[in-house]
Amino acid sequence: MSAILHRKTDTVPPAVAQADGLWVTDSDGRRYLDAVSGGAAVSAIGHREERVRDAILRQFDAVSYAHGSFFTSEPAEELAAYLVGKAPAGLSKVVFCSGGSEAVETALKLARQYWVERGEPGRGKIIARRQSYHGATLGALSVGGNLPRRALYEPLLFEAELIAPCYAYRERREDETERDYGLRAAAELEDAILRLGPETVAAFIAEPVVGATLGCAPAVDGYLSEVRAICDRYGVLLILDEIMCGSGRTGYRFAFEEDGVVPDIVTVAKGLGGGFVPMGATLVHDRIADAIAAGSGALAHGFTYMGHSLACAAALAVQRAVDEDGLVAAAAASGTALRRMLEASLGQHRHVGDIRGRGLFIGIELVADRETKAPFDPAAKLHAVVKASAMENGLMIYPSGGTIDGRAGDHILLAPALNAREDELAEIVARLGRSLDNALETLK
Ligand code: PMP
Repeated sequence: MSAILHRKTDTVPPAVAQADGLWVTDSDGRRYLDAVSGGAAVSAIGHREERVRDAILRQFDAVSYAHGSFFTSEPAEELAAYLVGKAPAGLSKVVFCSGGSEAVETALKLARQYWVERGEPGRGKIIARRQSYHGATLGALSVGGNLPRRALYEPLLFEAELIAPCYAYRERREDETERDYGLRAAAELEDAILRLGPETVAAFIAEPVVGATLGCAPAVDGYLSEVRAICDRYGVLLILDEIMCGSGRTGYRFAFEEDGVVPDIVTVAKGLGGGFVPMGATLVHDRIADAIAAGSGALAHGFTYMGHSLACAAALAVQRAVDEDGLVAAAAASGTALRRMLEASLGQHRHVGDIRGRGLFIGIELVADRETKAPFDPAAKLHAVVKASAMENGLMIYPSGGTIDGRAGDHILLAPALNAREDELAEIVARLGRSLDNALETLK
């Protein structure tokens, strides 16, 4: 019996007992190869790391916590400067928090406060995208398009305007280039802004590479720069959610660098603390920070644990390790290698419709029929069956699908640690192939 209310109330998952590098061991001694960084693209430099351990112990011996209204701290200041130093010019302020949902709440509130400070309080609406996920708190859930996660809480959520995601595999027409498709998808944003009235719209929020709800669907070339241009045309703030795809995972420090855009606000978490500590951050453009400074002069927002000294020291050690070990470039190279292995092993599989992603953030879309792209019956929950079979085969993967946004689809997401070795990547592919075949066998 467990006193924890688990997500599935009729099962208790295995207890994790120990982990090192890409290997996780449960309390029965079973070993799992971690193809998804702790299960959710978090453990970006693997499990256990001396440099992070040392930083945590040093900070523990100095001071773990003091509230930000009394003190700042060296690790918080250093981490903020470090993140800003990696970000494009203009993104020069940081608000810390303890995870992704909090980072998104912060972003939404900053966008709102900006417009109030600027004397345009009518700007409160948020445009977001279907088949997206931005977090579990009521604000973040309001801008997410994951219907099963929303349904129970519906009367409490605020109305966000949801437009189409950038999802080339299913949405690009045969007669369209990727670029033309991207422009068409982006045009939905302009339509939505005009429909709502630009003077009512505060911000648009999107993931550059959609993670949890769409199996690593990346923005096609030109999509985000068009989105940026549309936001600029109507004075709408651009919030990019890099909680899953950021922190080096795509082979860029920030995924949006590949798209050549600079957002007004960007959220990061997961890989920021690398799973050693709960950690999130919202990076803010000067124009927003300046408007707040010139207006009320204070952020009307805060969390008890923002800028937690111990958490900041750990995250700083993670980010330094990423740079010392050249892991952003490694993610790009290993991503190419993993993609190649997946194509070779599963590219012709009759139930693999698409292999996509950026860097070490790779999605596989499973289909009943490759030609028609017909999905499996959502009731079969193939993605969940593959996850269960992967666990049987000693492999951790991230499943997504079912009836997100009322559409069927099954995806598997791979996001191994940025320092995964080539032999580990090969083992992931081998175990995944077995798991997929076992799962399909179970469904028959
Ligand atoms: N945004 C994105 C893009 C995410 O992938 C997630 C988590 N899967 C969140 C926000 C929410 O983060 P958290 O679960 O840490 O609150």
